[in-house]
Amino acid sequence: PLGFRQRPVKPLLEVDRLRKSFPHASTAAVERVSLALGEGELLALLGPSGCGKTTTLRMIGGFETPDEGTITFDGHDITGLPPEARGIGFVFQDYALFPHLSVLDNVRFGLRKLPRAQARSRAEEMLKLVGLSDLGRRRPHQLSGGQQQRVALARALAVAPQLILLDEPFSNLDAKMRIETRQEVRRLLKSTGSAGILVTHDQEEALALADRIAVMDGGRIVQLGTPDEIYRNPVSEFVANFIGRSNIVSGRAEGMNVHTPFGDLPMTRAANGSVSLAVRPEQIMLEADPNGAAVIVGREFRGHDQIYWVSKDETCFVVISGPGQDHPDGTRVNMRICDCVVPLT
Ligand code: ATP
Repeated sequence: PLGFRQRPVKPLLEVDRLRKSFPHASTAAVERVSLALGEGELLALLGPSGCGKTTTLRMIGGFETPDEGTITFDGHDITGLPPEARGIGFVFQDYALFPHLSVLDNVRFGLRKLPRAQARSRAEEMLKLVGLSDLGRRRPHQLSGGQQQRVALARALAVAPQLILLDEPFSNLDAKMRIETRQEVRRLLKSTGSAGILVTHDQEEALALADRIAVMDGGRIVQLGTPDEIYRNPVSEFVANFIGRSNIVSGRAEGMNVHTPFGDLPMTRAANGSVSLAVRPEQIMLEADPNGAAVIVGREFRGHDQIYWVSKDETCFVVISGPGQDHPDGTRVNMRICDCVVPLT
């Protein structure tokens, strides 16, 4: 399908047509999910609640057995292997730290096979990497959520896994901590060279953190691409509205151009016949005009920009414009689209 990128030359992980259904469910939780991950690459599995993200991740980690399909990791078929034989790291949603162990001992836990002194210095090195050198003697309950999350990450990264799986790792953090921590996680993974798969329902998090995003809906991957590709060229109305917001406009397409109520516009890809088009709120320009065909019906001041709700022909559009523009409610305007629009399937 459209938007599926070519696979990396030498994938670290290859997931081929995974399927999983649970007893008493009318539809499969995961259906024909295929993806490939390169070394050191960060992939986000993004989608609404219940779309199959966690089940996909758990099958890759070995916590769930697929009904069909194969998982190849580092050149080996690992589909039937238990989690501990896969050499894949896992950070759970609740961090799963050992409450009775110190922070340092939590990180050292995975290094039991190393000589004592070596395990200790590796654990200390990891704590330094996550900025928690001074807190090694504390117990997990004496740390903030963000600090606990960093301990969980240090513990998973200590064994230098080639791949680490992260299931909604920021869900316990407040908004500010989440933004700080996700950049830190990206930096850490990039500095250790570990590849990562992150499960999230937060589009902003996926855009900020991942090299590529797999958007899931109803157990399937509906689009897989870089954040830029997915934002600029969503394949469907679902993706267009799940990643950011979109206005949907209808038009008549002819190759790379489309006739719309906003005039003739270029498209991001070719299409023919009647189409629905996605137009991002920042792609619409407003010009005050007493005879304008549209009217401002609401607005939200956000500091760096403003959101306007604009009514035209009984349709409500959402428009984002820079701080310089100021149109009070009731202002008549003209709307102009100043970019390529996206034909949807
Ligand atoms: P969320 O963001 O809410 O965690 P998700 O995208 O991770 O959602 P999954 O947890 O993978 O979704 O669930 C996919 C579907 O499979 C859902 O309909 C869910 O109810 C069902 N499901 C998941 N685990 C089980 C289970 N152990 N037994 C039965 N059904 C399950």
